[in-house]
Amino acid sequence: AKQNGRDNYQIFEPAMAQLVSKNIIYENEMRQNLDSPQFYLVYQPKVCLHKSNVVGFEALLRWAHPVEGLISPSDFIPIAEESNLIIEVGEKVINDCLAQLYEWRKQGLNIVPISVNLSGKHLMSNELIPFINKQLSYYGIEGHYLEIEITEGVLVHDIERCIEVMAEIKSLNIKISVDDFGTGYSSLSYLKRLPVDILKIDQSFVQECDATEEDRQICATIINLAQNLDLSIVAEGVERQTQLDVLKSMHCEVFQGYYFYKPMPVEKVTALLSLLCQP
Ligand code: C2E
Ligand code: CA
Ligand code: CA
Ligand code: CA
Repeated sequence: AKQNGRDNYQIFEPAMAQLVSKNIIYENEMRQNLDSPQFYLVYQPKVCLHKSNVVGFEALLRWAHPVEGLISPSDFIPIAEESNLIIEVGEKVINDCLAQLYEWRKQGLNIVPISVNLSGKHLMSNELIPFINKQLSYYGIEGHYLEIEITEGVLVHDIERCIEVMAEIKSLNIKISVDDFGTGYSSLSYLKRLPVDILKIDQSFVQECDATEEDRQICATIINLAQNLDLSIVAEGVERQTQLDVLKSMHCEVFQGYYFYKPMPVEKVTALLSLLCQP
């Protein structure tokens, strides 16, 4: 029987063990190099056609791994989320954005708000508000230049605590977006109770909004909902003029996507801001 057990073990062991140990290695490497140039932010502009300009940026984290090359955040963020490392990641992102805003302002550029993606674990922790407070005053940046993107799932987990934290975030003048809106399983009633400001239509709906009636309807419904609840709306993942035309006809005004700009390194953002500042 012992022999048998050992054989069974060996059947599923190699692949599993490899995956687990790879995650452990990544986690350790992340922890060790988070403050090194291996980790850096790129920024994707948000465009308002109404004002025909860039009204903000979303900060997106990149990991240039010395051996593996560029690793996608969709791969390394979930690993960080399994431990408190995700809090360090969030703090790094908040700090880098505020430091960057400070730099741009020092260069005489007109700054615009930057949104950061935070995990639910970080949002619910007691460390978030004091950290943001400290960094805002350290860099002398006003709260309204920072926005927080949270996915829908986070909001329903512990709604009472969520209301509490969000009230504190609001008191710092920081706006809150619901990311990937429409993909979660939540009831809509939470939107009435939580002080969110912005809904981001998930790119999976935008993708086909110019091709399939269902996706077009979903986009229209989300935009209507936002209007009725007095929330702003951002459509993400806009890649084509035909998608833009559909969304514009629904009175969506802020867009993010490859059609306008891909996420860009800091030097390109500096150049873009310099251009925007010209009379
Ligand atoms: P997300 O927050 O939904 O970010 C939007 C993703 O869509 C980004 O992928 C962006 O590069 C991509 N994107 C933007 N426009 C287009 C487009 O027109 N077409 C297509 N196909 N894609 C577009 P990215 O940078 O690979 O990030 C993936 C996800 O990783 C993010 O999804 C977010 O959930 C997570 N993430 C990225 N950076 C951070 C971070 O600093 N902290 C946390 N917690 N999560 C992050
Ligand atoms: Ca996001
Ligand atoms: Ca999103
Ligand atoms: Ca997403």
